Amino acid sequence: MPVTDAYFPFLIDRQMYKIFDGEELEHWRKAAEQHGFSLLGRAKDRYQLVLGCHKCGNATLKRSSVVLGYNPECGNCIRERREAAATKVGATLLGPDPEGDRHYGTYQFACGHVDRRQHTRVEAAAAGGHNLSCDTCTNEQHATEAAEHGWTLIGPSARNDQSYRKYEHECGHSQDVAVANMRYGDVNCAGCSETWSSKPSKIYLLSFTLPNLPAIKLGYSNNPTMRLRQVQLDRGETQGTLDQEIELKTGHDAICLEKAMHRHIKAHWPKLIVTREDFRDHLTTTSEIYHACGRAFIIALINAVDNGWDPNQTDNWQQFTSFRDQDA
Ligand SMILES: [Zn+2]
Ligand SMILES: [Zn+2]
Ligand SMILES: [Zn+2]
Repeated sequence: MPVTDAYFPFLIDRQMYKIFDGEELEHWRKAAEQHGFSLLGRAKDRYQLVLGCHKCGNATLKRSSVVLGYNPECGNCIRERREAAATKVGATLLGPDPEGDRHYGTYQFACGHVDRRQHTRVEAAAAGGHNLSCDTCTNEQHATEAAEHGWTLIGPSARNDQSYRKYEHECGHSQDVAVANMRYGDVNCAGCSETWSSKPSKIYLLSFTLPNLPAIKLGYSNNPTMRLRQVQLDRGETQGTLDQEIELKTGHDAICLEKAMHRHIKAHWPKLIVTREDFRDHLTTTSEIYHACGRAFIIALINAVDNGWDPNQTDNWQQFTSFRDQDA
């Protein structure tokens, strides 16, 4: 009972398989029917059965022992389920795992990056309404956040804790810091004893000429002039300028206010946000870039903060501009 040279005239698990010329046993047929399949034939070798799935109508290959003894699942139904889960989290299932682990697949994320992921984790993310985060983008974001405070992301931390990374300070000392603390500059360097959050800082407004649109960046730094240089990949092209800066007593104040300003802009004028695709090739930042038409609005917000407005306390920033007008 050999494998023939003839192929099945339909795809089996999206592949072509050669017909195996052999008897089709009645107890296989019965077991297949019980599990929701029709026995269509035998393929590849003497162990494999070709089943027609009653649910999706496609053919799938299963070992006869699996059909008899276990709960056979249709490979096409599994694939469809995984593809649907991927779509739900903004990704695309491209194919099997390049490392050959059947629990993993190759996925493309919304950002365009491609990576392997465990299928069950993608399905869990879809079921829980979570997004699938891209390691490349997450790393870029962590590196950018660290750069705002004079640190360089080195890589994973030595300790067995996913929330930590290893960073190097501009003084040359490296240490583990929690990602969330680094984001808020809440880190003390054990090498040079600098406590960033207690140093004075600034909120700034920068302007750039991106190829297709003028854009602005609202941010904080203790050195906006240096930040302006850092953030541009090609200064000749983007021609950035520092347009405004206000002083804050501590870096901690600066970041809390700045984050709240971004939330305020997102809530009240979300169309100002420039999508990352439009600046990723020109600026080394991951977000916080706005269309230049929002300049007057953002300058007014910065002035309100300078007059004591705390967007964490109230949305009413206008009262802090009129306060200044009356005062002047
Ligand atoms: Zn199926
Ligand atoms: Zn990415
Ligand atoms: Zn240091």
